[in-house]
Amino acid sequence: MSRQAIVVGGGIGGLAAALALRRIGWQAVVLERAAELREIGAGMSQAPNAMRALDELGVGEQARSAGVPTHASGNLRTPDGRYLQRARPGDPTAMLAFHRADLHRVLLEAVPDGWVRTGAEVTAVAHQGDKVCVEYDGGQVSGDLVVAADGIHSTVRRLLWPDAPPPRFLGRTAWLGIAEIADPPGSITLGPGGYFLIHPVGRGRTYWAYVTTADQPDVRYPGQEKSEVARRTATWHDPIPALIQATPPEAVIHIDIRDLDPLPTYVHDKVALLGDAAHAMSPDRGQGAGQSIEDAVVLVAALAGEPTIQTALHRYDTDRRPRTQATARGARKDGHRTTSKAAHRTMTTMIRLMPAPLWRKGIAADSNPTWRWQPPHLPSPTTRH
Ligand SMILES: Cc1cc2nc3c(=O)[nH]c(=O)nc-3n(C[C@H](O)[C@H](O)[C@H](O)COP(=O)(O)OP(=O)(O)OC[C@H]3O[C@@H](n4cnc5c(N)ncnc54)[C@H](O)[C@@H]3O)c2cc1C
Repeated sequence: MSRQAIVVGGGIGGLAAALALRRIGWQAVVLERAAELREIGAGMSQAPNAMRALDELGVGEQARSAGVPTHASGNLRTPDGRYLQRARPGDPTAMLAFHRADLHRVLLEAVPDGWVRTGAEVTAVAHQGDKVCVEYDGGQVSGDLVVAADGIHSTVRRLLWPDAPPPRFLGRTAWLGIAEIADPPGSITLGPGGYFLIHPVGRGRTYWAYVTTADQPDVRYPGQEKSEVARRTATWHDPIPALIQATPPEAVIHIDIRDLDPLPTYVHDKVALLGDAAHAMSPDRGQGAGQSIEDAVVLVAALAGEPTIQTALHRYDTDRRPRTQATARGARKDGHRTTSKAAHRTMTTMIRLMPAPLWRKGIAADSNPTWRWQPPHLPSPTTRH
């Protein structure tokens, strides 16, 4: 009889976990508290490590056709429009940009019908003998394993890791949107105290994000978020004002940047934390969702390769903590540096003075250990479900 997992959360991490489990013949139920399963938010980029993990899940090709190559890291600018570094036409790029909903849909379409339950907010988790029992709005379900992919404010983490500190506000806030403007070149504009990111995401849409410092969290501008971000970047180069202008006001998202301090373990008996629930990180390395996809592949490869669930979870924990926590640490530092007013002049001078071939080498596909990661292999897909 096949094993049964309960996945809490139907974001990118939860769906990746369900998909991976399917590939080794497990059954899974995905409990998602939202009434409708859709990825909110704007855009994101994915690096080669995440694309390799998606290949292991059997959806790499679909993901590549949903993504758009972006040269954002090759086109670094200052707010007056000058280029510190500039990608040449035809330069290769290691990065794909996505509308979040497009990447989410690729995963969702591959999850077997009937596995996802929406409007199912998880409220309790308890071990009962060999099984783990989960209570949610509308019922309860038990299984051999719980994968908690319920995001940065994870309920499962709060219940089973009561000593874990809450997410930490990092002194930064961000406005994001999708503008109905086709294909401006991807770029990152480094201003004193903030940066503006542009990624074309296909079908006439462009993702933008403005990240800047904030003294305190939760400062909001009800009904005025669009005009607030427009005001803050009004003198920045084209097409920045136009992108904000072309975004419907209700589609401008304002969030504070938080991450998690490193947890001592991602595993509690037969419950595994995955994705942001385990290691939410500052977005500055564009790795949060990518790491959650990696988590899914590593967890399920361990389940396939180890004699027991316990040993598999131990392997998952030992494998994933160092990498994800180092990435989170690096992202925290990068975010601090790129939004530091004091470091702005030195940073932009150093980037401008760097020889272009050296800069290009630094953003090539195999340029850093995070991107070079190779996934473990999952067994071939099974039709048992
Ligand atoms: C501004 C910004 C830019 C980013 N850019 C990038 C990028 O370019 N590349 C990248 O890889 N990452 C990026 N990230 C990080 C990325 O968004 C997250 O790492 C990723 O979404 C985490 O996925 P997840 O599935 O772990 O969690 P989530 O996406 O948060 O999903 C959690 C799901 O669980 C559900 N849920 C919560 N509680 C319960 C409950 N009690 N019961 C049932 N369901 C529940 C939620 O409704 C949600 O659907 C960015 C993040 C931010 C903030």
